[in-house]
Amino acid sequence: MKLENKVAIVTGAGRGLGRGIALKLATEGAKVVVADMAPADETVALIEKSGGIASAFTVNVSRQEEVQAMVKYAIDTYGTLDIMVNNAGINRDGMLHKMPVENWQLVIDVDLTGAFFGTQEAIKYMRQKGYGRVINISSGSWLGNIGQANYAAAKAGVVGLTKTAARENARKGITCNAICPGFIETDMTLKLKEVNDGAAWESMMQRIPMGYAGKAADVGNMVAFLASDEASYITSEVINVGGGMIV
Ligand code: NAD
Repeated sequence: MKLENKVAIVTGAGRGLGRGIALKLATEGAKVVVADMAPADETVALIEKSGGIASAFTVNVSRQEEVQAMVKYAIDTYGTLDIMVNNAGINRDGMLHKMPVENWQLVIDVDLTGAFFGTQEAIKYMRQKGYGRVINISSGSWLGNIGQANYAAAKAGVVGLTKTAARENARKGITCNAICPGFIETDMTLKLKEVNDGAAWESMMQRIPMGYAGKAADVGNMVAFLASDEASYITSEVINVGGGMIV
């Protein structure tokens, strides 16, 4: 197992990509704090069923004091923190010329400021420890995507945040990398199946060179690799997991 004796936090792990990431890290031996705003007990139960160790923690990542409490919880419960995965995210899509400022601000607060709080709080501890892995979930949309000005701006911000954190902490035993998933089957994307009787979903499949949506496990596998010692010389990278969709 790649991650034996490691302790990880995964935000937004109550379902979707975060759940897939948490399951994979636990399978590789990490003890996982499954952090989410919504109940995360189902993810914890799945991990425990497969013989892993995990506990749920309720957090709104856009609130700094809650993120601080989450990091403290991991250290108090499992004795340390090695791996921080900032995955929690939302979208509020709409054309820029019609986008209410509330939808702009909400996505920035959760997707960008949430990643900032998580990265900052983890790094404060990891700098003292002289070891750490920060993995931030951005998106292929950071390159620009119609209807996603708020989301693209937040996810581009995550790339800048990650690359800066990587450079500032490279001599402290800490690596920081971003993953850009393409189109992965989760509650966030399954909504598309209801648009135009499934035609919108089919059209999305046409845009993916591999012809099908990815699974949470595809992203989980990359997170586990970046969190492992095999990736110790990899930092400041932006890695696509998109079946060829992101160019
Ligand atoms: P999802 O909506 O299925 O799950 C998101 C999870 O985050 C939920 O459990 C939700 O309760 C939690 N969450 C939302 N706001 C939160 C907050 N303020 N504090 C704590 N938890 C919060 O979404 P997903 O598809 O699993 O996406 C996970 C991440 O991957 C997001 O950052 C998303 O932007 C990114 N992403 C997803 C895709 C995709 O195709 N699904 C593609 C690119 C990037």
